[in-house]
Amino acid sequence: VAKRGGLRVVHYEEAGDPYDPNRLSLIGDLRRAIRDDELELHYQPKIDLRTGAVAAVEALLRWQHPERGRLMPDEFLPVIEQTGMIDPLTDWVIETALAWVGQARTRHPQMRVAVNVSARNLGNADFASHVTDALARTGSDPGCLTIEITETALMADPARATASLMRLAKTGVLVSVDDFGQGQTSLSQLARLPVAEVKIDKAFVMHLDQSATDAAIVQSITDLAHRLGLEVVAEGVESQPILELLRDAGCEIAQGYHISRPMPAAVLARWLADHDVE
Ligand code: C2E
Ligand code: CA
Ligand code: CA
Ligand code: CA
Repeated sequence: VAKRGGLRVVHYEEAGDPYDPNRLSLIGDLRRAIRDDELELHYQPKIDLRTGAVAAVEALLRWQHPERGRLMPDEFLPVIEQTGMIDPLTDWVIETALAWVGQARTRHPQMRVAVNVSARNLGNADFASHVTDALARTGSDPGCLTIEITETALMADPARATASLMRLAKTGVLVSVDDFGQGQTSLSQLARLPVAEVKIDKAFVMHLDQSATDAAIVQSITDLAHRLGLEVVAEGVESQPILELLRDAGCEIAQGYHISRPMPAAVLARWLADHDVE
């Protein structure tokens, strides 16, 4: 809030303001960004807690904006998600991740890659065919791709999300429910969805060693998921004591800064060379 000539000038920063010039320029800039190679994926390893081996990596989007510097997903995705641009953006992410995993598999034959998709992508009836096209264009095995969808995105419109997930699962890719524990998914809803994995939201993981409540939540999500035949991933693992608590809880996969931060492809290649890969 600035005072100018006795007038109060208030700056609003509401994500939803359709006339916000910041917002309009981001949408325009994204077309150029895809064309001019300003987008980049960073990759964060997912470790198998039983063997210590790298089970997969998650692709996370970065935007090297020529004027604004590096933009993190939270700085531009909420705006892009309100437009049709989210579809070509997700197509770009999937193809880039598949191209990466195809290359990685020459050295690490079991490597998999996970990509994040928005509620809006899932709401698009063509989404599964976009995935099939990307698999075909890159000559990829569907088994090397995991699609991560947040629990909130699934539960926004459960009937539609279920139909969409059924089509996706038929393509042979795996589906993972991200940020699990924040929403209100019931056991019967989760059991009806064709998902292979749940990712416990990092809010429950980050202070696991200090909170009996978080420990109880992590344990019950893990037990529930196992009864439904799902694998459990914990994200936001920032220390060795937490990693060990998760292993004791029966959680299969861990991801977080304690293992590695997300890395550009070139750095990841060196990191993988120094680690056991399944
Ligand atoms: P997410 O899918 O829950 O991804 C995990 C986020 O936590 C990432 O932030 C990651 O860098 C961060 N993280 C990983 N390990 C730790 C840790 O140990 N501690 C803490 N505090 N954080 C950790 P990032 O890269 O900023 O991404 C934020 C969100 O943006 C993602 O949350 C995802 O929802 C979304 N996102 C990222 N890339 C894409 C994309 O390509 N498409 C879509 N639709 N969404 C994306
Ligand atoms: Ca994710
Ligand atoms: Ca998450
Ligand atoms: Ca998140």
